[in-house]
Amino acid sequence: MESKPETNAGAMSMAARVQAIRGRMAAACARVGRDPREVALLPVSKTFGVDAIREAVSLGFRRFGENRTQELVQKAPALSDCGIDWVIIGHLQTNKAKEVARYASELQSLDRLDLAQALDRRLQQEGRAIDVLVQVKTSDEQTKSGLEPAGLIPLLREISRIQTLRVRGLMTIAELSDDPAVARRCFAALTQLRDQAQAQGIEGVSLDRLSMGMSGDFEIAIEEGSTEIRVGSAIFGARDYA
Ligand SMILES: *Cc1c(COP(=O)(O)O)cnc(C)c1O
Repeated sequence: MESKPETNAGAMSMAARVQAIRGRMAAACARVGRDPREVALLPVSKTFGVDAIREAVSLGFRRFGENRTQELVQKAPALSDCGIDWVIIGHLQTNKAKEVARYASELQSLDRLDLAQALDRRLQQEGRAIDVLVQVKTSDEQTKSGLEPAGLIPLLREISRIQTLRVRGLMTIAELSDDPAVARRCFAALTQLRDQAQAQGIEGVSLDRLSMGMSGDFEIAIEEGSTEIRVGSAIFGARDYA
């Protein structure tokens, strides 16, 4: 895993890109009267190598989002000196629970009970507990993973009984569209679902966190209540999946 060539990362330094994002986050907060300290920035390091992650660590980041366990099992040991908390944000097959239980501190893509149960078994073996966000579908796109909104409260009730999974909030991916109103609708839907679920007062379930917004739509997400944006390309540069 080598870092990307300079040409791929754009002309600005990573520090300058992060500073620009922070400025845009603050402006979005100001537009809706929010305190910028309510919104966290999660760098998404998928497809990028250990050198790029070390550079981000030098800028103060200690949590990183990854979407594949294959990358997690390579990067976590290689960066064990950095004290990183790894956050899994991608669709997870049940047979990958072992890797998550071993290396991740958080899962934002929990979308079904059998995955929760597989994680619980592995976490008990590791003697660990992790934070989880439940990923909810907020668009009709067939390709997007995530739980159907109608299944949210039943799933939250089930997970609330699982001691190794601490529910902290919800996550969504907005539908990709040139029309910003489409993403806004997705984000507003997640905030509304959270409010409805919170009103149920399920014991052991906290829904304070809303992970929504990526490089292309994070300002809209912040305006609609995001507490955490997941940003990859705007920090690390364009991804090369080759
Ligand atoms: C890749 C990814 C991101 C970051 O995407 P960018 O557009 O590069 O910011 C955020 N969330 C999820 C779930 C992802 O898979």
